[in-house]
Amino acid sequence: MTDRILEFLRTRREAGQDSAPCVVVDLDVVRDNYAAFAKALPDTRVFYAVKANPAPEVLAALAALGSCFDCASVVEIEQALAAGASPDRISFGNTIKKERDILRAFELGVRLFAVDCEAEVEKLARAAPGAKVFCRMLCDGIGAEWPLSRKFGCAPAMAPRVLELAHSLGLEAYGLSFHVGSQQRNPRMWNAALKSAAGVFRELAERGINLQMVNLGGGFPTRYLKRVSPVRAYGDAIFTALRRHFGNQIPETIIEPGRGMVGNAGMIEAEVVLISKKSDDDEVKWVYLDIGKFNGLAETMDEMIRYPIRTEYDSDPREPCVLAGPTCDSVDVLYEKEPYLLPVSLEIGAKVLIEGTGAYTTTYSAVGFNGFPPLQSYVI
Ligand SMILES: *Cc1c(COP(=O)(O)O)cnc(C)c1O
Repeated sequence: MTDRILEFLRTRREAGQDSAPCVVVDLDVVRDNYAAFAKALPDTRVFYAVKANPAPEVLAALAALGSCFDCASVVEIEQALAAGASPDRISFGNTIKKERDILRAFELGVRLFAVDCEAEVEKLARAAPGAKVFCRMLCDGIGAEWPLSRKFGCAPAMAPRVLELAHSLGLEAYGLSFHVGSQQRNPRMWNAALKSAAGVFRELAERGINLQMVNLGGGFPTRYLKRVSPVRAYGDAIFTALRRHFGNQIPETIIEPGRGMVGNAGMIEAEVVLISKKSDDDEVKWVYLDIGKFNGLAETMDEMIRYPIRTEYDSDPREPCVLAGPTCDSVDVLYEKEPYLLPVSLEIGAKVLIEGTGAYTTTYSAVGFNGFPPLQSYVI
């Protein structure tokens, strides 16, 4: 955690503005992360996944460093343009797009689009003639703490047909993409996907279509409770896999980091609302915070992401607690299957700091469930 964030929170408390939880994002950390990606993967263009944290200050800082942007909607494209990115630095990476949104993106100058089936290629051929397309392939997500299931991508065996259709309809069959699953803890998971990708490159080359690009997706982890390897280890593993499967004809590559770019740049300050037990012989205490699944911590779903939590009492002994949010929805429980160890001396009214919350917090908290407002956000 950064001293700048702690200082900001102290000032906020002194001004009496701390009645609701907030997240604070330190742009210096975002800039350091961008530099680390650029160094670990020197020949790879970075397309920041806007959904991880679309705060205008974050986008502007990344645009100024030369980052490109992976956008999933027209609004995200407009946000990237407003931050100073030119349209040639934007991809429309969602495989599920309305044809009128494709048209709008094309009018705004975007020329790089994702597809994973023939129907989407047909929309692109009508609404974005001549654009570059890459085909997303399925990836099993093993090793990821937040796997991405089967919603996006087609089987590698189907990708040549999709790209061949794009080629025949006048689009530029440009490359392939995959996503190894978010918070991917194993740097070697890119290997199998790159092997499939190289196979598709060869198959299409035999039919006279020369793909140029592999989009390596996101998945780069941030530090939560468990240790993760540095981005350098990911760069090394990816380069080794590229060499192994593409030999000396390594294609152009891009990455789409979201979590790995902003996760560790943010910290949430929240407050303990209630501490109680359900019966006299209950072994675990229930600790209720003023933040939960509906105002910022949606990624605790199925207890997948376990955030580090700091309190003023951290030198005291700890005991297992069920941690829950403030709403009247019974799913608004953060950690119960695996209770969370918190200091025995923790008190009602105490502040807690939740680390690693720069990614996927504000974006998941856009509604005012039970009258709890969306998470306040500051960028410093
Ligand atoms: C969300 C998303 C990303 C970012 O994934 P992280 O695991 O946060 O790095 C990258 N690419 C696509 C297409 C996405 O939808």
